[in-house]
Amino acid sequence: MNQTQLLKINGLKQYFPIRGGFFGRKVNDVKAVDDISFEINKGEAVSIVGESGCGKSTTGRAILRLDEPTEGTIEFNGVDLLSLKRKDMKKARKDLQIIFQDPYASLNPRLTVRQIIYESMDIQKHVKRQDREARMFELLELVGLQRHQADLFPHEFSGGQRQRVGIARALSVDPKLIVCDEAVSALDVSIQAQVLNLLKKLQKEMELTYLFISHDLGVVRHISDRIIVMYLGKIVEIGDNESIFENPKHPYTKALLSAIPVPNPKKKSERILLEGDVPSPIDPPQGCRFHTRCPFATDLCKEETPQLRTTDGMTENHQAACHYINEIDFEKVKARV
Ligand code: SF4
Repeated sequence: MNQTQLLKINGLKQYFPIRGGFFGRKVNDVKAVDDISFEINKGEAVSIVGESGCGKSTTGRAILRLDEPTEGTIEFNGVDLLSLKRKDMKKARKDLQIIFQDPYASLNPRLTVRQIIYESMDIQKHVKRQDREARMFELLELVGLQRHQADLFPHEFSGGQRQRVGIARALSVDPKLIVCDEAVSALDVSIQAQVLNLLKKLQKEMELTYLFISHDLGVVRHISDRIIVMYLGKIVEIGDNESIFENPKHPYTKALLSAIPVPNPKKKSERILLEGDVPSPIDPPQGCRFHTRCPFATDLCKEETPQLRTTDGMTENHQAACHYINEIDFEKVKARV
């Protein structure tokens, strides 16, 4: 194993069976994640981005085995998570925490912040009873909350503060990897920035590793070391932050980037507008899955599935799955909006 590697996903598939008929037999599958592989190194912040239904949240849930993956391997800190028995997986979850999109729904409304954090510590038997209070106050301070707020209930906080409580709860067991599933999507833009800055600060201080899951490339721009772009259950592009933002190669990544609002009101943004909706993951298109919406699709794209590859003008760790890398003239399809 590479010294710095923390998570290694290989050939991960997550299919959800569709049952029908009188006997409830399996008639098909929703292919939510379809054979993806990637790695995350210790201390890295990696983001998975894509539209709703691309499989990004399913990937996050599969890593924590909140859903049981259909195929593939998930190696965490050298241990194959899928081979662990229930009891051992529960222990492993101490190192793998998740922060959800809706902090209100993910916090028990009947418990105070103190009880929420104690509960998390107790499940993992992580902190001795006599040390819990001191650690809880330490965590509140770390995430920018006051001591007196320990005895408030979730509904007494604002959205941003509730997300801070969610972060404190995740940190209460000293995790190695935190999956942030649309963790700031429900927050106002100014609060989003505060929470992202907090996560960045904590990453440095506590040597955390993050997997961010977001539909918005703009949100993860300043926090990600590397970015994985997913479309309809597949990885279509993967690369470091600079490669994805300054030298994107896949038309889908280009379209996502063009959707990021331009901060200058005098400047019109140039969008690559995608037509139609994401096709159904029950019966994904043959060949390149993006061909039904790609303005550059040819007959080859309909027949042959492009593999992730690196070619001229790309850095070593930058890969895209398109037959026409470097041949596409994006200027032709830009619309001024
Ligand atoms: Fe578009 Fe074809 Fe490239 Fe797919 S392979 S992204 S359809 S040009």
